[in-house]
Amino acid sequence: MNEQLICTGCGVKIQTENPEELGFAPASSLEKEVAVCQRCFRLKNYNEIQDVSLTDDDFLKILNELGNKDALIVKIVDIFDFNGSWLPGIQRFAGKNPVLLIGNKADLVPKSVKQRKLIDWMKKESRELGLNPIDVFLVSAAKGHHIKEAAAAIDEYRNGKDVYIVGCTNVGKSTFINRIIKEVTGEGDIITTSHFPGTTLDMIEIPLEDGKAIVDTPGIINHHQMAHYVDKRDLKYITPKKEIKPKVYQLNEQQTLFFGGLARFDYLSGGRRSFPCYIPNEINIHRTKLENADELYKNHAGEMLTPPRREQMDTFPELVRHEFTIKEAKTDVVFSGLGWVTVNDVGAIIAAFVPKGVHVMLRRSLI
Ligand code: GDP
Repeated sequence: MNEQLICTGCGVKIQTENPEELGFAPASSLEKEVAVCQRCFRLKNYNEIQDVSLTDDDFLKILNELGNKDALIVKIVDIFDFNGSWLPGIQRFAGKNPVLLIGNKADLVPKSVKQRKLIDWMKKESRELGLNPIDVFLVSAAKGHHIKEAAAAIDEYRNGKDVYIVGCTNVGKSTFINRIIKEVTGEGDIITTSHFPGTTLDMIEIPLEDGKAIVDTPGIINHHQMAHYVDKRDLKYITPKKEIKPKVYQLNEQQTLFFGGLARFDYLSGGRRSFPCYIPNEINIHRTKLENADELYKNHAGEMLTPPRREQMDTFPELVRHEFTIKEAKTDVVFSGLGWVTVNDVGAIIAAFVPKGVHVMLRRSLI
């Protein structure tokens, strides 16, 4: 391609190499007269929002712009990866604008857990993370649960203003917006794209009846999420589609659990206890004696302990050990983007291992 083509939809430079980057269009599509990037094509023809990769600087620009708007900010998190999908500093970025918090993927949470309890938990956690949301909702974008209520609340709280939807990648932001589009506008060719002032980023606008818009911002990448270390073909194992059923392990001191080859849990001391593991059903849990654990990982990561895949092992980050003494009854040990293990008893000493770069943390038990 000699001459630089520009997408007639959003104005980005068209490229034909990387389907995940901004401006991608398949080379064959460019033989037609009007050049559009794949993202605009899908948006226009199927009302479908697609993710693109951006640099961290771009994301920062987006966040920094939010405070200059007079708008309602809707922040989406993945309830199964609450902290991993949190956008730190969102209250500061939002400025004086109210923030409505939406927890998505409620369908993954065991059915025995009460909605109300989970919403209260989200409120408490967000306050501790420095956010004072105007309201909190729990939805399943995939299943369509509570989308109507969320849409109605957005309409009420926006109070005649624009709405900016933010979230990190993989929280289900696109799925949510695609649902909302149907909810607020019915179907139809109503989406337009617009440029974000000061950047080359295109925002996606869904016009509302009163001349305002719902604006989709690009999904922000949280680098400490497990998803970035898993082969694309294996993402399905850590992006569960069905209710997570906890697997309960009775452990003696000095026993180890491996979650595939992605994480490891050592029970060091505290007597024989049971440990509910909220890990996607598709991930194999392997129990062994602590004294054999290092050797087992060395010899079997990438095959028996998988994902990661064997061919990834050369570049897969080493597992890093984090030791904790449990101070509160019912504490979750969270492996960011993978799941958690609940430790019921005060005084237990455990070690959690995750690939270097991935977060591990303790929190008040979610369930
Ligand atoms: P985005 O990157 O935030 O735009 O997220 P997507 O909408 O592309 O969704 C990311 C992944 O989460 C996909 O595999 C979706 O199928 C899945 N997903 C989205 N919403 C839900 C939900 O409500 N429940 C479940 N279980 N999965 C969901």
